[in-house]
Amino acid sequence: MSHPAPENRAFLKAWRAFIGDDRPVYAPMVAAMLGFRMWCEAVTAAGTTATAAVRQYMLGQTEIGPCGSASTIGVNHHIEMAASVGRATREGQFEVVWRVPRPIAGDPWAAASIIADATAANAQRDLLDALPTPLIVLDDGGDVRYRSASTHEYFGPEISAGVLATLREMVAQLDAAPAESHRGPLPAITIHDAGGRARHMTIAARRMIFAGDPAHLLSLADVTYIRGIEEQLLILNAELQCLATTDPLTGVSNRRHFVAAVASQLESMRRHRRAAVMFILDLDHFKLLNDRHGHEVGDHALIEAATTLHRLMRGNDIFARIGGEEFAGFLPETELGSALVVAERLRAGIAGLRIGVGDAAAVFTCSIGLTAVDADTDTPESAMKRANAGLYLVKHEGRDRVLWA
Ligand code: GH3
Ligand code: MG
Ligand code: MG
Repeated sequence: MSHPAPENRAFLKAWRAFIGDDRPVYAPMVAAMLGFRMWCEAVTAAGTTATAAVRQYMLGQTEIGPCGSASTIGVNHHIEMAASVGRATREGQFEVVWRVPRPIAGDPWAAASIIADATAANAQRDLLDALPTPLIVLDDGGDVRYRSASTHEYFGPEISAGVLATLREMVAQLDAAPAESHRGPLPAITIHDAGGRARHMTIAARRMIFAGDPAHLLSLADVTYIRGIEEQLLILNAELQCLATTDPLTGVSNRRHFVAAVASQLESMRRHRRAAVMFILDLDHFKLLNDRHGHEVGDHALIEAATTLHRLMRGNDIFARIGGEEFAGFLPETELGSALVVAERLRAGIAGLRIGVGDAAAVFTCSIGLTAVDADTDTPESAMKRANAGLYLVKHEGRDRVLWA
């Protein structure tokens, strides 16, 4: 009624003359008028009012509407026409503020864009199904919008409520966390697959638009095999660590571990300025024991000796079998005086051992060389060298005693 086009002004004038008063005009009247004019043209062209014939001539009919633009009947029988955007005025009319640059094609129910969306959604689903990775699309309400074909192997026909709750929690955490904190190890879940086997799955979640709606894409990776290998590796590593530091005959630490452990003790002693003592203990005339009773008895004696010595030492002392019938000890936070007491106890412990040989018992003694350790100047090797010098003197003076160098 307020459209400024000259065609409209002319129409309004004709309309008022025809109707005889000032009653308003409105949009549906435009459609009725255009439709009627087009029908008249089509009937004229067809030479009949028979519907089937008129329909043929309706397609492509063009009329200039009251707003000055052409309207055309499209092949889908819907009209293509111009449109304007107006602002409502106090007088109950519209002030045109924008016009479409070209006529809008008739598209009932926006079918074209629905078809385009559906095509895109199908393409997304096809893509997800083509990937071997199990993929789950959760909508913003936390419901499963789509799950790729490969999820069936893992979750069966229905994803359990428990798993779904975990997935939702992960998505919530993802949304809550700032983007840079997404790095680091992926969260993982353990599920039981359709065959009842435990499967470890890592989960990565990303926001996405799925079939036109905001959603989360969860991509799962089956790491069961790698996890198994990791676990085996940890066990093997622990075993290897044990083998590398343990003496196989007696089960106490070996020389390698002794040297490494003493080195790290010296390191911390340098910071705390604490006293320490090292000793080396050698079994006396052990070759004779072997010769007399055989190697097996000798082995047994070594095991008994190691066990006894280990038992007589304190928990934070370092103790090892460093050679054939040689042992070494490192006593942290110990003055020479109290170390001598400990060493005497060890000597007595060895002397008191009785190794059964048939009805008889083999006995043996040991000699011990001690030295105070100076963290500032000593290495494990230099301290061992001094303790050995002490040991050498004991052997010279008759064995079965303790001496400090
Ligand atoms: P000393 O009092 O001077 O130390 O005399 P020794 O006979 O103990 O010293 P020597 O170094 O001559 O001999 C050490 C012996 O220890 C030689 C070897 O038969 C024995 N021995 C070393 N390792 C083992 C072992 O693993 N098992 C057994 N049964 N004997 C061992
Ligand atoms: Mg010996
Ligand atoms: Mg020896």
